[in-house]
Amino acid sequence: MSKSIETTCVQSGYFAKNGEPRQMPIVQSTTFKYDNSDYMGKLFDLEADGYFYSRLSNPTCDNVAKKICDLEGGVGAILTASGQAANFFAVFNICEAGDHFIASSSIYGGTFNLFGTTMKKMGIECTFVDQTLPYEELAKYFKPNTKCLFGETLTNPTVNVLDFEKFAKLAHDHGVPFIVDNTFATPINCRPFEYGADIVVHSTTKYMDGHAGTIGGVVVDSGNFDWLAHAEKFPGLTTPDESYHGIVYAEKFGKDAYIQKAVSQLMRDLGPVQSPQNAFYLNLGLESLYVRMKQHCGNAYKVAKYLKNHEKVAWVKYPGLEDDDEYAMAQKYMPNGTCGVLCFGVKGSRADAEKFMDALKLATIETHVADSHTCLLHPASHTHRQMTEEQLKEAGVAPDLIRFSVGLENADDIIEDLSQALDII
Ligand SMILES: *Cc1c(COP(=O)(O)O)cnc(C)c1O
Repeated sequence: MSKSIETTCVQSGYFAKNGEPRQMPIVQSTTFKYDNSDYMGKLFDLEADGYFYSRLSNPTCDNVAKKICDLEGGVGAILTASGQAANFFAVFNICEAGDHFIASSSIYGGTFNLFGTTMKKMGIECTFVDQTLPYEELAKYFKPNTKCLFGETLTNPTVNVLDFEKFAKLAHDHGVPFIVDNTFATPINCRPFEYGADIVVHSTTKYMDGHAGTIGGVVVDSGNFDWLAHAEKFPGLTTPDESYHGIVYAEKFGKDAYIQKAVSQLMRDLGPVQSPQNAFYLNLGLESLYVRMKQHCGNAYKVAKYLKNHEKVAWVKYPGLEDDDEYAMAQKYMPNGTCGVLCFGVKGSRADAEKFMDALKLATIETHVADSHTCLLHPASHTHRQMTEEQLKEAGVAPDLIRFSVGLENADDIIEDLSQALDII
């Protein structure tokens, strides 16, 4: 049965059988009991289906991964302990020491550090590129050892729109998968697989959980990338895994190869699992994701319009505004709305901006984004503090940029709060 996205949010993943709990149970157990030693051996050999240890798989986590997989229209998904772990898994599942990959320079600061510094120590080199460059310029960055191309649907914090068509073509013309972090748009507003992405990642910490309650991540595979057609580039998937009795993932699992490898190799060895309890909270968030995204976007549009017309506001970036220079691209890929996050700068000095931020009462200063409460931060002094001036510029983060995450409150109340704080400067 093909279902609408609202129904998938509520109903997908867990199905109660006769007499079973209506709400998805939390299977808070590390391990699972078997009557038969031989069957347990088959589980370890990946020859039989079943649970045996919650680092590898757990029914609660699997149900929630399945729901997100359905929302994105993928073939398989794995929950992780955080968005950071998800992004690491997505790339490390196909890159090893000596490999190279390309990422937009406008991505989330944490991912920028992971790719540029920590993965470099593992011998994996990342080139950061200006995502607005034309195809021909971007094509020059590909090398024989390039293994994937990475971008964010809507960049955090600058809310720039990714040109999916250009990125998908670049990746596929060079025989590598296109990985998209879809955290800000969520599958409610954008389904990257429909625009050529091969793998999608989320920090579920943001809109998916939606209530600032749990840290989490997910990796979803479309099953569309043909690993065997580019076998020499992806030996991890196309040659025997010595740590798993010589399994060749792409041969044994076909379309499930990428997620199977992430589970049976990366999760087995590295272990950043999401706890069943956190997966339960995440599922509650997913049930209302459709309703919440509509309210976040509606509120953000009103707030962006208000700020745009305010004499003390220097500039506003919100791709949902009709006069935004990326409005057309946002409409193409996200016709029903973008997200609840916007950016702006206030006129005057840095001290004026600080006075304004401190004067806000309803909107609070916090290192979070994309949840029910309206919040803000100043990336140059908070999340992007570790970046150099040069890196900030490269990431498109203006020194006066305020990231404003519009919550689920009444838009007029948020605007009234902004108004009284702007009056102070
Ligand atoms: C927050 C965020 C991450 C990191 O996720 P955590 O859950 O905090 O580890 C990755 N990508 C984007 C776009 C984010 O907003």
